[in-house]
This record gives sequence, structure tokens and C-alpha cells, in this order.
Amino acid sequence: SKESGGNRVEVYSSEDTVQMNRKITIESSLRPALVQRQFHLSYQPVYQLDNGRLRGYEALIRWQHPELGNVSPEEFIPIAEFNGLIVPLGEWVLREVCRRLSDMLRYEGLDHLRISINISSQQLISPSFVSTVINVVDEYELKAESLELEISERRMALHDIQQVAEALSELHAAGVRIVLDDFGKGYSSYTSLKYLPIHSVKIDKSFVKDIDLGGADRYIVESMIQLARRLGLEAIAKGVEFEEQMLLLKEWGCHYVQGYLLGKPMDPTQLDASVFRRTVE
Ligand code: C2E
Ligand code: CA
Ligand code: CA
Repeated sequence: SKESGGNRVEVYSSEDTVQMNRKITIESSLRPALVQRQFHLSYQPVYQLDNGRLRGYEALIRWQHPELGNVSPEEFIPIAEFNGLIVPLGEWVLREVCRRLSDMLRYEGLDHLRISINISSQQLISPSFVSTVINVVDEYELKAESLELEISERRMALHDIQQVAEALSELHAAGVRIVLDDFGKGYSSYTSLKYLPIHSVKIDKSFVKDIDLGGADRYIVESMIQLARRLGLEAIAKGVEFEEQMLLLKEWGCHYVQGYLLGKPMDPTQLDASVFRRTVE
């Protein structure tokens, strides 16, 4: 807490100082962490609702800091976006996922699997992003369709939309799949729907959370799914934690689900077993 005003001097509490120091520590250890391979990826499964088939995974970054322990991406991604390190960090994520995909796709019957990665707008507007994605996909001999990019208004500055649209159009033309993440949560979800070339919308978990309790969220989520379907897009619901939520989503025609009910993010060592389970229920 911070007190100010009148003729008093601003006083920072020791908590503020702790927070500030933590931020400085995180910022200064991001680059060495990349060199020293302190990051790894965790994979959360996504399932098709009508038949329970495994659709693929979302890759989520993890950081084991030598002193701070596990640092959440919610904490360090904004710092990496601020200091520009998100560009090399994002490229590391891309390579790691493509390597993993090329490993998995070697098995019979898995060629439909997709892995999605989260992309920040700083990456999308960096001049070499489009060619990097296309080259890395090529290098690992993947079909572009196997890779999905999740873009979010939360991770996008509003003035970027024109530049973002251009980059996405090129990737779309190359066959890479585009997901509008955190759908409904941004200030301009409809504008994004209208101007960005996307294949799917991912409905934010803040809406999915309470659909089993009645109330407005039911109608909101049902309409989002309807809208996606009318636009010929896939609807993915995230944050599914309860059976009743899944049943409602199924009734409303949602295509895909992701959440703790179906599977938590997993380390690569748990991944192989999950790939061969393939279906839930
Ligand atoms: P997100 O894209 O919304 O990812 C979903 C988050 O919800 C993940 O948190 C996931 O672990 C969590 N989650 C999954 N199922 C459930 C559930 O049933 N209930 C609840 N309450 N939560 C669930 P995580 O892994 O901490 O990631 C947080 C955010 O950090 C992500 O949110 C994404 O915006 C960002 N992020 C993660 N990895 C990357 C990355 O490689 N690059 C970039 N730019 N951002 C990333
Ligand atoms: Ca995401
Ligand atoms: Ca989120």
C-alpha cells in the first residue's frame, strides 16, 4: 500500500519494495534463463466434444527459476513483452513445439493432431515472424495445418490490428491455423472477428466458469457458439472443470473442450501415454 497526498512524502511499504525487487530480478534473469534452458513446455489436451477424440494440445510455457522457483507465465510474459525478449522466447517455443510435433506425427494414425502456441502481438508485428514460422514448419517437414497460433487481444495493442491482420493473412495463406483466444474478453472481439482471418474462437474461461449455475453466462456462451458456427468457425471452450459444463457445451454445439476436467497441462514425459489414450469417457 502507498500513501500520498497533501504535504506528505510518498511512502512505499516493504511489500511494494519486495514486489519491485521481484520484477527486477525476473527481468534481469529472463535472458540468461533462455541460454541456460530453464524454460520448458507443458501440454494440455483438447478434445472433440461429439466423439471424445483427442484433437491436440495447447503448449504452455513454464519457468523454473533457480531462486524464485516456479514463476507463472502470467507474471513473466508481460515482462518479456515489455523488454522485447518475447521475440526470441517465442521463437524457442515455436521450435520446441515443431520438434515435438514431428516426433509425435511419426506414429501411425496421429497425423490429425494439432498443437497450439500462444503468440504475443510483439511477435506478430516483428518483421521476420511470418518467415520464421513458415521456415521452421518447413524445416521439421510438418503440414502447416498441424500448427495453431493463439492470438489474444489481451496480448495485442489496439493500434496493431492492421499490422496483425497482414501477418495473419500471410500465415493463413500458408495453411497455418489461427485461433482467436480469450474470445469475449477483449474490448473489440467483434472487430477481431470481422477483420482477422481466423479458423477458431476460444471462449474465455471467465464465461465458461459459471454456465452450470444458470444466469447470464449461459446465454452469452450459447450465443458465442452460435455466432462461431454461423461464421463457419470452430468453437473451443476452455476452463471446463465440471461435467455439467461439458454437457451444456455439447448441447449448444461447441466443437472442442479443454480444461482440468479433461486433463491438466502435462510434462512431455506424460505426453506419450496421453496420445495413445486418444479418447475420453
Ligand atoms: P491462456 O492462453 O488463457 O491459457 C490457459 C490458462 O488456463 C493456462 O494457464 C492453463 O494452465 C489454465 N487452465 C487450463 N485449464 C484450466 C481449468 O480448467 N481451470 C482453470 N482455472 N485454469 C485452467 P497458464 O499455463 O498459467 O498460462 C497463463 C497464460 O500465460 C496463458 O493463458 C497465456 O496467455 C500465457 N502464456 C502461456 N504460455 C505462453 C507462451 O508460450 N507465450 C505467450 N506469449 N504467452 C503464454
Ligand atoms: Ca491460449
Ligand atoms: Ca486466460
